[in-house]
Amino acid sequence: MVQNRMTNAGTEMKRRGLCFVISAPSGAGKSTIANALRASEPQLRHSVSVTTRAPRPGEKEGVHYHFRSMEQFETMAAAGELLEWATVFGRGYGTPRAPVEEALSAGYDMVFDIDWQGHQQIRTALPDDVVSLFVLPPSLEELRRRLDNRASDHPDEIARRMAAAQDEISHWSEFDHVIVNKDLDRAIFEARSVLTAGRLRMRRQTGLADFVATFGV
Ligand code: 5GP
Repeated sequence: MVQNRMTNAGTEMKRRGLCFVISAPSGAGKSTIANALRASEPQLRHSVSVTTRAPRPGEKEGVHYHFRSMEQFETMAAAGELLEWATVFGRGYGTPRAPVEEALSAGYDMVFDIDWQGHQQIRTALPDDVVSLFVLPPSLEELRRRLDNRASDHPDEIARRMAAAQDEISHWSEFDHVIVNKDLDRAIFEARSVLTAGRLRMRRQTGLADFVATFGV
């Protein structure tokens, strides 16, 4: 299937890609869900953020993040190269603008693993292109257990993330959709359903008007 064409009963039309924003407190499983979506749909693009935090073991430059100094990050933000940016856990995080514009106009959908501040900014910047999903953990206790098991973060960092989790969760109702990640397979199924529904949204399908006109209405 060619990603940037939508075929309906013989009509072929160019479509603009959408931004699928997934937010959650750290440890709720949003990266796992996003990875599963991309694994089943290789054409789904992933927005690789810029960050000033250090790489975790196994994280690769340009794959998981673009790792930059605070000075480089501030230069990018000042030059307008970031579509949105925020300070999370005292570090800079931001979305490079150019790959998003290129993907959407070429018809590729893109997944964003960003926080609530990024969601607000991206929604303002691209109001017609965003479908958003908030992922809740089953409980705060379970969230702590998952962060402890990850073991890649220092205990101080885990404590900071637990404190930030409640702040992140307080923004849950700003999102279009919300799921509880109690069972991973179910959460992935639900996230995929949200993406599918976003693609089928009436106002994204204006290109169908010519096709519908063939019904004489
Ligand atoms: P982590 O350090 O665990 O990879 O990410 C920490 C938090 O920063 C997560 O909530 C993640 O969603 C958020 N984040 C990652 N990249 C971006 C970004 O480009 N913009 C914003 N606003 N948040 C981001």
